[in-house]
Amino acid sequence: MDFKGKVIVVTGSGRGIGRTIAERFAKAGGTVVISDLDDATVRQVASEIGGGAIGIAANVTSADDVARLLEEASSKLGSVDVVVNNAGITRDTLMIRMDEKDWDMVLDINLKGAFLVTKAASRIMMKQRRGRIVNISSVVGLTGNAGQSNYSASKAGLIGLTKSAAKELASRGVTVNAVAPGYIETEMTKNLPEAVRDDYMTRIALKRPGSPDDVASAVMFFASDEAAYVTGQVLAVDGGLSM
Ligand code: NAP
Repeated sequence: MDFKGKVIVVTGSGRGIGRTIAERFAKAGGTVVISDLDDATVRQVASEIGGGAIGIAANVTSADDVARLLEEASSKLGSVDVVVNNAGITRDTLMIRMDEKDWDMVLDINLKGAFLVTKAASRIMMKQRRGRIVNISSVVGLTGNAGQSNYSASKAGLIGLTKSAAKELASRGVTVNAVAPGYIETEMTKNLPEAVRDDYMTRIALKRPGSPDDVASAVMFFASDEAAYVTGQVLAVDGGLSM
C-alpha cells in the first residue's frame, strides 16, 4: 500500500501498537504525526521513525490539546488524511471493587478522547472532502470481559461512535472504521497473570498471541484507497478468539 503524500496522525503512538502503526505508515511513504502524552517521547520517536515524521504531544482527554494537535498537524504538513484513534488504557478489576475514578479515567481516555479527536479531525476532513478515521476498539467491546467492565464499555462505545460518525461523515468523503484486536503482546498485556495468558492461548483458534504488526495491517487496509467503499465496519484481528 502506498501512502506517499498522505499525512497520518496516530494518537498514543509513543509505544506499543500505536508506534508500530506509525512505523508501518512511514515505511509505506506516509508522513506521520506521533502523538502521546510526553513531549520528549514524541520528538524522540518521530526522529527514530524519520520520513518527515513530527511529534506533537497531546492528552486526548483535553479538547484544547486535541484542537492544537490537529491544527498543528494540518498547518505544518498541509493536510490530515488519516487519523488513528489508538490511545487507550486499562484499569482492570471486578466491577464490585471498581472505583468511580477508574471508570471515569478509562471512559475519558478511550472513548471521550476518540470523540474529541474525531470531532477536530472531521472539521479538516469535511473541508478536504476526503479522510479516513480508524478507531482501535477491542474484541472485549464485542464480547464483554469479567474484570474489564470499564474498558469493555469504552470499547463498545467506540464501536457506536464509529458507526454514527461513519453515517455523519460519509457524504463528505470521510470513512470511519474500527479494528478490534484480541490478545496482542505489548506493555498493556505483559503483566497479565500466567493463568489468563494460558486461558487466551486455549481460546485463540490460531494458537498464538497477535503482534502490533497484525493490527497495523488491518488499520492500513481501512486507511488505504482499497477500502474506499468500506465504512462503519469493525474488523476483529484476534486469531479467531471472538468467533
Ligand atoms: P500501550 O502500550 O499501553 O500504549 C498506549 C499508548 O497510549 C501509550 O503510549 C500511552 O502513553 C498512550 N496514552 C495513554 N493515555 C493517553 C492520553 N490521555 N492521551 C494520549 N495518549 C495516551 O497499549 P497498546 O497495547 O499499544 O494499546 C494500544 C491500543 O490498542 C489501545 O487503545 C488498547 O486499548 C488497544 N488494544 C490493545 C490490545 C492488546 O492486547 N494490547 C487489545 C485490544 C485493544 P504513556 O506511555 O505515556 O502512558
